[in-house]
Amino acid sequence: MRTIMLGAPGSGKGTVATKLAVVYDIPHISTGDLFRHHIKEKTPLGEQAESYISTGQLVPDEVTIGMVAERLRDPDCGEGFILDGFPRTTHQAESLDRILAEDGRAIDLVINLTVSDEIILSRISGRRVCASCGQIYNVDTHPSRTEGICDLCGGNLMLRPDDAPETVMRRLETYREQTEPLIEHYIKKELLIEIDNEHSSAVTVQTIIAFLAELH
Ligand code: ADP
Ligand code: ZN
Repeated sequence: MRTIMLGAPGSGKGTVATKLAVVYDIPHISTGDLFRHHIKEKTPLGEQAESYISTGQLVPDEVTIGMVAERLRDPDCGEGFILDGFPRTTHQAESLDRILAEDGRAIDLVINLTVSDEIILSRISGRRVCASCGQIYNVDTHPSRTEGICDLCGGNLMLRPDDAPETVMRRLETYREQTEPLIEHYIKKELLIEIDNEHSSAVTVQTIIAFLAELH
């Protein structure tokens, strides 16, 4: 199953993709996570990406597409994958098709998660991330047992640097301008399904599993 998760920042792409990856035993490939890893490790790619991410802009396609192409060649992608946060521009979508076609592969399904703006803003403002292991919490909906401390590793919880309110507004604009047009692109290809992720991600995951079971 070769899948793309689409959705605005804060729509819950990462949470839903993580759960689906476990259910179908395929890798969850998040470009945001890959970039954050590079930034933490201070690699040259991380240095190139950092200023864009911290201001809510897209990292240039030259950097992003090469990074994803390399990841998709890894052997664990043989049975499929879930892309989260890629593609984010029409040019990235076309490049993805070309990269996959080189090995006779293609995208099977695009899942667009829909959520109201109000929920997006409350999810992002409440989000906290463990500085050590990356586990994600939310002060309202999924708090850690001890405030500010990770349940899994005892690390300190912090705001993601690009979750500052001004940067969130910029990310939403970037999404509307550059990523939203992809919805139309994948509707035309008859690959898109739309799922409401306003409520529980567990319900969303069950809805997607039921949909896929119908297909087979
Ligand atoms: P969100 O979907 O909540 O904005 P992500 O973790 O997916 O968060 O992405 C964080 C940031 O990483 C984005 O704002 C952008 O700067 C960068 N990024 C992630 N994926 C891409 C991509 N496909 N192309 C360009 N930049 C990207
Ligand atoms: Zn942790």
